[in-house]
Amino acid sequence: MEEIDHAPLMFELNGDRQLVPPFNPEFRLLLVDDDARMLGSLCELLKGLGHQLTTASTGKEAIEQLSRMKFDLILLDLRLPDMTGHQIMDFVRDHGIDAHVIVLSGDTAIEAAIGALERGAFGYLRKPYDPRELLKLVDNARQRTYLEAHNLQISSRLERSERLYRYLIDNSPDVIYTLNHEGKFSFVNKRVNALLGIDRDELIGKHYSELVHEDDMDMATNVFNERRSGDRASRNVELRLKCLTGLEGERYFNNTLITIVLNSTGVYTRDKAYAKHEFLGTYGVARDITDRKRADELVTYHAYHDVLTGLPNRILFKDRLSIAMSQAKRERAELAVMFLDLDRFKRVNDTFGHAKGDELLQQVTARLQAAIRGGDTLARLGGDEFTLVLPNLHTRRDAEAVASKILENLRAPFEIDKQPLHISASIGIAIFPGDGETIDELLRHADIAMYQVKSMDKDSYHFYDSKIINSSHQKIILEQSLRNALTQGELEMYYQPQVDATSGEMVGVEALMRWNHPARGLLGATEFIPLAEEVGLMIPLSDWMLSAVCTDLSKWNRVCPSELKLSLNLSPQYLDRGNFPEKLSEALTLHGILPQQIEVEITENISIRSPQQAMEQLEKLCRLGVTIAIDDFGIGYSSLSYLHQFPIHTIKIDQAFVREIQSASGHYPVVLAIIAIAKGLGLRLVAEGVETEIQSHYLEQSGCGTMQGYLYHEPMSGEQLLQMLHKHTALSAQG
Ligand code: C2E
Ligand code: CA
Ligand code: CA
Repeated sequence: MEEIDHAPLMFELNGDRQLVPPFNPEFRLLLVDDDARMLGSLCELLKGLGHQLTTASTGKEAIEQLSRMKFDLILLDLRLPDMTGHQIMDFVRDHGIDAHVIVLSGDTAIEAAIGALERGAFGYLRKPYDPRELLKLVDNARQRTYLEAHNLQISSRLERSERLYRYLIDNSPDVIYTLNHEGKFSFVNKRVNALLGIDRDELIGKHYSELVHEDDMDMATNVFNERRSGDRASRNVELRLKCLTGLEGERYFNNTLITIVLNSTGVYTRDKAYAKHEFLGTYGVARDITDRKRADELVTYHAYHDVLTGLPNRILFKDRLSIAMSQAKRERAELAVMFLDLDRFKRVNDTFGHAKGDELLQQVTARLQAAIRGGDTLARLGGDEFTLVLPNLHTRRDAEAVASKILENLRAPFEIDKQPLHISASIGIAIFPGDGETIDELLRHADIAMYQVKSMDKDSYHFYDSKIINSSHQKIILEQSLRNALTQGELEMYYQPQVDATSGEMVGVEALMRWNHPARGLLGATEFIPLAEEVGLMIPLSDWMLSAVCTDLSKWNRVCPSELKLSLNLSPQYLDRGNFPEKLSEALTLHGILPQQIEVEITENISIRSPQQAMEQLEKLCRLGVTIAIDDFGIGYSSLSYLHQFPIHTIKIDQAFVREIQSASGHYPVVLAIIAIAKGLGLRLVAEGVETEIQSHYLEQSGCGTMQGYLYHEPMSGEQLLQMLHKHTALSAQG
């Protein structure tokens, strides 16, 4: 027997050379022949290959074997006693048996061969066969079986891995896509549906630019057209894409945009045949970072905004201001910084509670915003303090216009707890660069200007004036020393007599406060009373005054009992909040003084704050038996209406009118009118600031008999007055 070549065979799969093993023990053969001798020699021939051999000598037997187990190859005799080989092949085919068939036939008729080949026989050998040919054919069948099994395995593995990749790609949290050389989508995974609300099939063939937010188009053009690959390709480029729906659940900000970070790379042919690789398109992966982005934005937002009003906070304000300042500097332009503080906001908080206070601040914010332009920055520094930058100022008028508009916008009542509520603001304005070249300087100066408004009329605005800084500095010092003055006993009451012009008799005195300032000497009331009013010192000052005048008056009463009328100047603040009638009544009782000896001087502004309350207080005083005088009569606008509203006994003609009387032959209609009014209403009249004989004469001639002024007496200390009284009683006693 010749050498049979059992050498291993190489075959190529996917470009790799693979080895087919020379035999595999699993290879099963079914040998079918009714000729026992033939079967025996077949077994003899094949057994050396190590295959598993099974024999059958009838068709029935063969079919039984085929039904029982799996065979890879059938060596089949066509002519069997019970059936033909063709019938067995039909059985194989009909039952889907995966076995090759080699027909070994003694039949010389061509039909037998054709019938076998038609039924898919792997080989056909005519008996007597050449054993080498048979072995070769069997080995070919074995190799074929092996390759088929192998291919099946591979293709199922491929199918599985293909499915795996598809699964991975479609379930990727990222959008994975390819673009063709024209920038049109050639592939995109399912993720795009959920993310952009666009069906991926719809996207195929569309240009990427249809997805990109207009503002990011330039950047997008670079990444989406990425032609570089490897390390030089685009990495982590942030872009915004348009999205059709808010499928991704609640978004805080913009539902129509998502932010992605994109990595892309150029794709080229792999064909080794070409020296130059052809550009096929771009492959990219886009990750949705919208939520992270928004979380970042939220954090940044809170770091730079006031939570209550949503306005920029101090940090962002300073940032915007510094940008506006650099711009103004470049353009040699001016800008305005405003400091705005609500007037009496504390009272709202105290009355309605903080929640309502917050509500008011929100309402105020809306009105402030309505007064400013797009480029202006309104910020809340905290509490009821707001700041405003107006860049690009043409003139100061621009700032004035905005300030007026703001005050105007605040004028209509707000609604808190269904109640109308009025609130005004004080605004200080500083101009860059004139009023300061740094942020802090500008803010400080606007703040000082704002305080200037606060201390005066409120509900108004003021430009910063460098002179204010000095006076306000002085004010602080003065305030501190005035507080000390109270405790150190530096205050003293002076008294200025009121004289009956005809008789020359002293009919009363007006109490005037003085401050023995340790450094500046004796200060008149005008030098510290306005400050005391401003800083809220008027109540302790008035308390002190009340007890001082009562002490002095009780001393004088011992010299000339109950004759002297004492006039007190009453601070509006004291009347407002000082329980003045009660305190006065207490003090009078304590010092044994009759209320009839006291006159209270009020000015018109007493009723500006709360006329109803002023009226009630004054009525209480009247009921005590105290009389009331209107001080500085004629200079205000509501003097006349007072006369009807309040229980008045005395009118004091203001110094300004008295000063006008300069000629004995002159005619002074205002003075005459005031005198006529007093006469008509049966009121007592006192002329103030009488310095000359002409004045005294004119007034007396016109019907005003009581005078107060330097012509008669300058204000004097309690001690001096006491001595004067002593002298007077001594003279009367002599007379
Ligand atoms: P007033 O009530 O109009 O007081 C009269 C002011 O005129 C006093 O100034 C007095 O010294 C001054 N005077 C008197 N005679 C003449 C005169 O012939 N010519 C001129 N040019 N002035 C004269 P004073 O004491 O400086 O007081 C200024 C203002 O301060 C007072 O105006 C009054 O409104 C207020 N004031 C003074 N003392 C008190 C006080 O104890 N309590 C309160 N609440 N206010 C006071
Ligand atoms: Ca007075
Ligand atoms: Ca006066």
